[in-house]
Amino acid sequence: MILTHLFLSLGKMARGDTSNTKKQLFFTKPLEKIIIHWIGPYPSHTPLVVRNWWENGSDGRGVRASAHFIVKDENILQCLPLNEIGWHSGDARNHNSIGIEIIPMNIAGEFSQTSISTLKELIQHIRKEAGKFLELERHFDGVQKKDCPRFYTSITNLVGVEHRFLNPEGGQQRWEILKGFLDS
Ligand SMILES: [Zn+2]
Repeated sequence: MILTHLFLSLGKMARGDTSNTKKQLFFTKPLEKIIIHWIGPYPSHTPLVVRNWWENGSDGRGVRASAHFIVKDENILQCLPLNEIGWHSGDARNHNSIGIEIIPMNIAGEFSQTSISTLKELIQHIRKEAGKFLELERHFDGVQKKDCPRFYTSITNLVGVEHRFLNPEGGQQRWEILKGFLDS
C-alpha cells in the first residue's frame, strides 16, 4: 500500500467548518466501524479526481460528501484525518465510523485483487491507529440501503453487466467472502 494524504480544505462543504457550515468536525463518540463504499460506476477515475470533486464540486464550493480514504489498486489517498467526521454513510454511522471508498476495476463494481490487498492492509492500519477492532460494514447496511458497494450487495441490476453478476444471492455472498478475507 502506498499511502499519501491531501486533506480536504476546511471551509469546503466536504470537510466542514464549524464557523460556516455548522457541521461537527471531530468525532465525539468512540469509533466503532469502518464503512466500505464504491466510486461507481467509474473505473477510470483516479483517487485525486474523486477527492477534487468533493473539494470543488461544480461551483468551487465542494460537495457535501467525503470519506477518509480513497483506494485504487496499491494507492491510497487519505482525505480526512482519522479524528474527523466524514460524510459518506448517509446516516448516524458518520459519527462513529471511518469511510473508505474503492474505485472499482469495471462498471459492475468489482474490486481488483490489488485493491482488495491494499484495503486489507489499510483496515489493519486503521484498527491499529484506533487501538481496537472496528467492525466492517457496507454503506448498504445502513438506513439508506444504498447499492454501495454495488458488486457486493444484493442489488446488482446494472445494464450491460454480465449475467453471472446479476443474481441477488451472489452479491451478498461476494460481500461475505470479501469481509471474511479482510477480517482474517
Ligand atoms: Zn457509499
